[in-house]
Amino acid sequence: MTKHAVVIAGGGPTGLMLAGELALGKVDVAIVERRANQELAGSRAGGLHSRTIEVLDQRGIADRFLSQGKVVQVAGFAMNPLDISDFPTRHNYGLALSQNRIEPILAAWASELAVPIYREREVTGFTQDGTGVDVLLSDGRSFRAQYLVGCDGGRSVVRKKAGIDFPGWDPSVSYLIAEAEMAEEPASGVRLGDKGVNAVGKIEDGKRVRIVLIEPHVVPGDEPTLGELREALVAVYGTDYGVHNVTFLSRFTDMARQAAAYRERRVLLAGDAAHVHSPVGGQGLNIGVQDAVNLGWKLAQVVHGTSPESLLDTYQAERHPIGARVLKTTLAQTAAARGDERTNALRETLSELLKMDEPRKRYAAMMSGLDIRYDLGTGHPLLGRRMPDLDVDTESGPRRVFTLLHEARPVLLNLGEPGALDIAPWADRVRRIDARYAGAWELPLLGAVAAPTAVLIRPDGHVVWVGDGTDHGLRDALTTWFGTPHHG
Ligand SMILES: Cc1cc2nc3c(=O)[nH]c(=O)nc-3n(C[C@H](O)[C@H](O)[C@H](O)COP(=O)(O)OP(=O)(O)OC[C@H]3O[C@@H](n4cnc5c(N)ncnc54)[C@H](O)[C@@H]3O)c2cc1C
Repeated sequence: MTKHAVVIAGGGPTGLMLAGELALGKVDVAIVERRANQELAGSRAGGLHSRTIEVLDQRGIADRFLSQGKVVQVAGFAMNPLDISDFPTRHNYGLALSQNRIEPILAAWASELAVPIYREREVTGFTQDGTGVDVLLSDGRSFRAQYLVGCDGGRSVVRKKAGIDFPGWDPSVSYLIAEAEMAEEPASGVRLGDKGVNAVGKIEDGKRVRIVLIEPHVVPGDEPTLGELREALVAVYGTDYGVHNVTFLSRFTDMARQAAAYRERRVLLAGDAAHVHSPVGGQGLNIGVQDAVNLGWKLAQVVHGTSPESLLDTYQAERHPIGARVLKTTLAQTAAARGDERTNALRETLSELLKMDEPRKRYAAMMSGLDIRYDLGTGHPLLGRRMPDLDVDTESGPRRVFTLLHEARPVLLNLGEPGALDIAPWADRVRRIDARYAGAWELPLLGAVAAPTAVLIRPDGHVVWVGDGTDHGLRDALTTWFGTPHHG
């Protein structure tokens, strides 16, 4: 039986990111993927939000995405664009780049990190015992792993076989999405219907169009017919514009569901397997990638025996609230996109509010993922928040903080007396870097915060301890997050 420490079901954006993180953590990880390659029938996600670009930057791969996409302001709420160009981040923007370009970049990274991908087969089930999981494949083989992670999308077999509930809201609306040619010139742009937004727009080559249409009634299943597309066009525009040569036709809904648990003993869930919702706001791929970056280093430490299994409970504690928040905002945005008189009035009121600076910043920080704070108790505002990408001076020259995280290892950034903080019992796991920094400390939404004398940064870029001139609390934080001290 083939063995891997971790098997990931599904090599979409979440599975690929998680595989890269685990490989950086020196874990023997493999992906099982149904598709023969990364090609997608349609384009799906349209880009990346600021925090996702930051986490890719923390691994030194943001440029691969930036060089292929278009930097734009992408954050928005209830059809109000929200500009983040005044936010204190190097990436004070989003990136327009379709999922079918994002996935090959992630796959190439995973391949550089020597992650095996077993393609054209599916995970069909598993059994778990006290020491591992037997992962069953559609080709009749099985893998033995210490952990199995379901990154197998909204219909996750792993989630279902683990018996994890998926509570939430049934769809209130279904949309057709298509790419096609039209014999007649369509009315381009957005058209608001009673239940929400319809849109027809030219795609790159100028000949073809992308169509998103609300169906007259909620229809299940993601394989609509050409007849249904024509019917929906006529219902909205009064004509089907002679639609033909349809190269992609699918259906999505505003169904919103979230896994009740992200872990069932040795089986974990991430990405769409853990949460599904309407694409409004462009959050799904983004939070899937961020789930992976939260989970990867924790799972690596548990596999290596550095940390107890209870570290994995922090994955659910930190990421479930983020998923729940996304579900809530997509429900709100779906409601606010309706075209009846009362909803129009509500949207206008929201627009007025979001033009004010404080609400604009609050919603922009949320939609771009820059406001995330994991609940690590009270203290300095940096605690639980993302470490800003400061320009610091180190013994080996000027460095950006994010470059110190490229290897996905924890960092103690000591900005006080060089050599002051002794972390010898963790030296095999945590890198101490003595540095100097004289500039401002600014966080999105909060603005300036007091300069700390040191920060302990997790591999995912979140701060778990803030120094105030002493080492008070440092040993506890090191033990909680990076395991017990080694004396020797
Ligand atoms: C129309 C549309 C527009 C969207 N727009 C945006 C957007 O602008 N921004 C955004 O962030 N998100 C957007 N999304 C959501 C985004 O596409 C998903 O959230 C994202 O793809 C989730 O990634 P994932 O890796 O978790 O799951 P998936 O992308 O679903 O990947 C799951 C992978 O697992 C494989 N698989 C499934 N079952 C098995 C099995 N049993 N065994 C082995 N392999 C399996 C699949 O082949 C697939 O490769 C949009 C979605 C839609 C439908």
